[in-house]
Amino acid sequence: MDGIDVLVSEVGPRDGLQSIAPIMPTAAKLAWIDALVAAGLREIEVGSFVPAQLLPQLADTGEVVRSVKARHPGLHVAVLVPNAKGAEAALAAGADKLTLPLSASETHSRKNLRRTHAQVFEEVQRIVDLLSALPEGKRPQFEGAVSTAFGCTLEGAVPQSKVVALAEKLVALGCDEVGLSDTSGYANPAQVRRLVTAVQGAIGAERMTGLHLHNTRGLGLANVVAGLEVGVTTFDSSQGGLGGCPFAPGASGNIVTEDLVFMLEAMGLRTGIDLDGLARARAILRAALPDEPLYGFVPDAGLPLGFERAA
Ligand code: ZN
Repeated sequence: MDGIDVLVSEVGPRDGLQSIAPIMPTAAKLAWIDALVAAGLREIEVGSFVPAQLLPQLADTGEVVRSVKARHPGLHVAVLVPNAKGAEAALAAGADKLTLPLSASETHSRKNLRRTHAQVFEEVQRIVDLLSALPEGKRPQFEGAVSTAFGCTLEGAVPQSKVVALAEKLVALGCDEVGLSDTSGYANPAQVRRLVTAVQGAIGAERMTGLHLHNTRGLGLANVVAGLEVGVTTFDSSQGGLGGCPFAPGASGNIVTEDLVFMLEAMGLRTGIDLDGLARARAILRAALPDEPLYGFVPDAGLPLGFERAA
């Protein structure tokens, strides 16, 4: 990676906003994203191509992608696509990265995505066909994101062999890479090391790229360190832990971007992200959503005296 050691992928504008009721106006989203880019974020998941009636908060995703691409040509603009129809819209808007969620727990998949694994694989195949028809160099990156990979609120423990098999299947179908998501905040560091190593062994470390971790039980950053130890270099996080945790009121969901960046930089790992710039972006978010709880230890405590970014 160009000049950085770890890619922090901001998912607040999608994952964070998705779970809150007040609709953030498009202009406010763009102002927030502008500030995140100014702070040094290189990849931002800006929305989701789901039907507007299901998720009014993200109904402007097409417009957001187009505007952000025009304003920040160098930014890696990521979107969630639940199916081939969403992928078509993402391609039309010019997204750089498509992420398709697949829940390791079949119960969760049927309830939340309303699809069996077989049906999700059909959509993956359709998306791969769409992408293959594009000229090389014009194809967005396509990631299969295995959610509930570390445990599920409906099924409990998820067998490691199942996650490995799903990762293999996604790559066999044509996904460029696979990410693992701790959707319910069940993961612990030993499990992260074990599962990531197993998936790397099955599909290759270069295809097992990212971790999406939650801090529901306070292990979010410990799990990041475990991921770093086994070679993971991309971590999702959300500014202010926006959106909280739908299963545990008062608890943060996604790990907090400010805390993640602080930890990485303090450990000597370059993120390219400036913490003062993140504070400015947080102020814009705070002003746009005055009643939403925002989380983070570093925003509350401030930086330690003498703190220096990784050089
Ligand atoms: Zn999340």
